Amino acid sequence: MKASALACGLTLPFLLAAGPARAKTPVATGTGGAVATISEQASQSAMTILNQGGNAIDAAVAAAATLGVTDPFSCGIGGGGFMVIYLAKDKRVITIDHRETAPASFTPHAFLENGKPVDFETAVASGAAVGVPGTVRGWHEALTRYGSMDFKRVLAPAISVADKGYTVTEIFSHLTAQNERKFQLYAPTSALYLRGGKAVQPGALIRNPDMAKAYREIAAGGVKAFYEGPIARAIVDAVNKPPLAPGKSARPGRMSMADLANYEARIRQPLRSTYRGYEIYGMPLPSSGGATVAEALNILEGVDFKGMPRAQAEHMYLEASRLAFADRNAYLADPEYVDAPIAGILSKEYAAQRRTLIGKQAAHTVSAGDPYAYQNDQSVPLRPRRATHVPGRPQPESAHTTHLTVSDKDGNVVSYTFTIESWGGSGIVVPGYGFLLNNEMTDFDFSGPHPNVPEAGKRPRSSMAPTIALKDGKPAFTIGSPGGSTIITTVLQTIFNHLDLGMPMDQAMAAPRLSERNEEATSIEPGFAGSAQARALEAFGHRWEAAPEEIGAANALVFNPDGTVTAVSEAKRHGVGTALVQRKGH
Ligand code: GLU
Repeated sequence: MKASALACGLTLPFLLAAGPARAKTPVATGTGGAVATISEQASQSAMTILNQGGNAIDAAVAAAATLGVTDPFSCGIGGGGFMVIYLAKDKRVITIDHRETAPASFTPHAFLENGKPVDFETAVASGAAVGVPGTVRGWHEALTRYGSMDFKRVLAPAISVADKGYTVTEIFSHLTAQNERKFQLYAPTSALYLRGGKAVQPGALIRNPDMAKAYREIAAGGVKAFYEGPIARAIVDAVNKPPLAPGKSARPGRMSMADLANYEARIRQPLRSTYRGYEIYGMPLPSSGGATVAEALNILEGVDFKGMPRAQAEHMYLEASRLAFADRNAYLADPEYVDAPIAGILSKEYAAQRRTLIGKQAAHTVSAGDPYAYQNDQSVPLRPRRATHVPGRPQPESAHTTHLTVSDKDGNVVSYTFTIESWGGSGIVVPGYGFLLNNEMTDFDFSGPHPNVPEAGKRPRSSMAPTIALKDGKPAFTIGSPGGSTIITTVLQTIFNHLDLGMPMDQAMAAPRLSERNEEATSIEPGFAGSAQARALEAFGHRWEAAPEEIGAANALVFNPDGTVTAVSEAKRHGVGTALVQRKGH
């Protein structure tokens, strides 16, 4: 525990739970507010704000801003995200969509060269990949509508971390090494994260006074400082004329000051579904996260898992995920551009029909269904009942991002996932401001025809799935994760493990992750192949992807029946997360 985190709490009835000095605590139970993030400093920032009397929304922004400093390759003010908030006083859930948006000049040809698509890595590491960042606008909406503090107060902990610096971890160094070539392209990125052109080593101290400066300008000037001031100018310049290192080249983008000035976050109605007596609130389009989790859960809801062998139950989980992904891949995109059949996809009758397609053996790839037939809206003619997209191998989707979750003593709850897309985003650090720009435009589907085709002003389809579950009208648990399209399966599998296999949340989260996204082979984590669990699933015809990788980095809260709250972070993945709680009195 840091003295600074405690200092403000001493005068308040809630104190940071005592724990071994500086040991990371992935699970903690308390009676006041709680936070779980993948960064120790970010969790401490949230706790500082809670101890100062801030609410969960204030603390979530404080944690997110700190993650932007300590985990700059997965998130930050150069990107966007989705926040789900439970407002205790109103007993309702709202969501803030602050997804990056395609500039007004964006076209489906952004990544064509001489009529041919450039390779994915070239597309990623470019100004053309950068969408108009939404994060600061999202934080502004969160704080001004639902928070109790201003930018100045909630950004203070992050500014302090950026100024003082943080120690490079093994995983940070590893991620830098993976992105060395991308970072070498850009002079300010090389200066910040490379040493002599090579990845910064574990143990090194990184200070980011430029990011502190960006945060200070936002603290002083508010949201306009980012979208209309010198920061906006610096972003536009960096996108249109990337700050290349000598001898390097990259595709420029075409972003204007108007693109930034016109950027809006959207307050969206949450996507609500039910599962075994729980109300599951997730993110609506343009994230496919909420709808895909809900469809798969609806498919699973008709299965009686009592007494079912674990392998058979997991076979059902994998196949339900496969069926839901077939629909997600075919139909889902930005709702301001596409009339996606969401009511059909969420219908219990449709799920029952999809469930009949699950056989005794893994199906490997399945076709999208016909959710239009279940739209229940007689006032509009039915759309053609055929997916416009020929299912094939989806285009590459990378697997990064960060998720955090916070609650406060008054019962407000935040589940928040935000990103800059790939590890290190586009690789472009904005000169003078120390933050990386996203490459979210590569989340469009360039292999059309497809609802998720690139269009000017459109938001690319996401998989982010920050979730809040209610039971009997009260928060029961939250869950979310990074991981590109595996976000959906991590959230789904954790809910399934917790509610159907009866695992406590820490076990539900620690269990080996299996990600079935309607592919020939299921993604698995290192160490799973050859296990008894794997062999039992192979008997159902499941096959495993050849190159296992760690999947996701989840964070959760569980609201216990005795009124306590348990914050749960990763005990092993991504260098271990940090769960912190307050405790009444002391
Ligand atoms: N761009 C991804 C999405 O919106 C998130 C980034 C990732 O996790 O890879 O789904």
